[in-house]
Amino acid sequence: MSENFNEHECEHLPDKGVYIEFSDDGEPAWKLYIQREATESDLEENHYLETEGESIWTTMLEITHCPFCGIQLPGLENVDKEAYGKFQHIDSSGWSSKSM
Ligand SMILES: [Zn+2]
Repeated sequence: MSENFNEHECEHLPDKGVYIEFSDDGEPAWKLYIQREATESDLEENHYLETEGESIWTTMLEITHCPFCGIQLPGLENVDKEAYGKFQHIDSSGWSSKSM
């Protein structure tokens, strides 16, 4: 199993909360992550959260182009376009996600 992670370096990306990463674990995909990171006041309100900056929720979407600069992201020549565009939402704000 080969794993290869790459980040899209983009000056138009928001400073934090949005990431674009390439993963190739069998199916190559560029993934847009939108992540809500815990702030100090979040920690006071939600006792399931432990540290500032940890993810409260993350939404992932497979993308072919960067939505900020518009370039076509490389490495997707052989990707199955019909199956592309998967998305996932991970909510880490509650007890159920504490599986460690
Ligand atoms: Zn970009």
